[in-house]
Amino acid sequence: MFSKYRDELIATAKAIVAPGKGILAADESTNTIGSRFQKINLENNEPNRRAYRDLLINTEGDINKFIGGVILFEETLYQNDEQGTPFPAILKKHGIITGIKVDKGTVVIPGTDGETATQGLDGLADRCKKYYEAGARFAKWRAVLKIDVPKALPSQLAITENAHTLARYAAICQENGLVPIVEPEILMDGTHSIEDSAVITERVLAAVFKALNDHHVMLEGALLKPNMVLNGTGNNAPATPTRVAELTVRTLQRTVPPALPGVVFLSGGQTELEATANLNAMNLLPNRPWSLSFSYGRALQASIIATWKGSKDNIEAARKVYLHRALCNSLAQLGKYPGEEATAENSQSLFVSNYKY
Ligand code: 13P
Repeated sequence: MFSKYRDELIATAKAIVAPGKGILAADESTNTIGSRFQKINLENNEPNRRAYRDLLINTEGDINKFIGGVILFEETLYQNDEQGTPFPAILKKHGIITGIKVDKGTVVIPGTDGETATQGLDGLADRCKKYYEAGARFAKWRAVLKIDVPKALPSQLAITENAHTLARYAAICQENGLVPIVEPEILMDGTHSIEDSAVITERVLAAVFKALNDHHVMLEGALLKPNMVLNGTGNNAPATPTRVAELTVRTLQRTVPPALPGVVFLSGGQTELEATANLNAMNLLPNRPWSLSFSYGRALQASIIATWKGSKDNIEAARKVYLHRALCNSLAQLGKYPGEEATAENSQSLFVSNYKY
């Protein structure tokens, strides 16, 4: 595809996943951040959402060595810190690239067994232009698929629909200067085995890359945000980080062209420790032509929110926790994570059934 932004898209995508860097996904919708706040008994209002995002965005020190990009929800893109500086300008000052969630959530595809399509294509080009003006340089769109082996889910219809929509979204973003993060999330819900997850993830990614090619998406200026290949949450068979890594990397090797600069995993309900250990194990394997990194929401933020508790007095402590988790994941991106002691916080299950973002 020819986009006047071609060189910029390529440079942006590369910068986000430079060695040791990944993404903080802080783009929870108003409802989703509300469920996080509920855990600390905090009201879900605009000042509290602003204060929380301020805590993250105004973290200094080494954070820009670990975090290349932060994904924001639309409300946050237009908010300021207490001095009146827009959040994207603060991130830019820190050398961190601003991203924006552009999808409008999921709806059930009629006639399917609760499978979903993602909305938001109408008017997307105009929104991308506005987000670019506001300082965003990359975007995220989340498609959701679910595994149910006896019911043969995901259906071919859901795979085709979501691959097509992701490709349309990606092409529109590139046309308007935003690097698209293509996120076909296959949920962890279910009793399926890790091997089933590998087979289905491979099928989904193959369809997604065929659609990206059909829609003239320039892979050098895009990123993939997939699930890791894992057991279903209802399947207790052991799966070590090495096994997760082998099957996940094999799946990528079979489906993702080396032209793509980076693969940034979602955490999907894994604990903070699991998400970091699994990423580290992948980065110890051979034949990785792409940067393998993180774009975690829950697995980067659970401990931060639990430490903050909505109080000004805890902001500094919460920022230390953010720096620590970001450092651990940065080391995992380099295959140098030494592991760490399990605590109640970092080992807490972050799984939410039928997760909506
Ligand atoms: P989790 O890491 O919490 O799965 O969320 C990442 C994300 O951005 C989902 O779209």
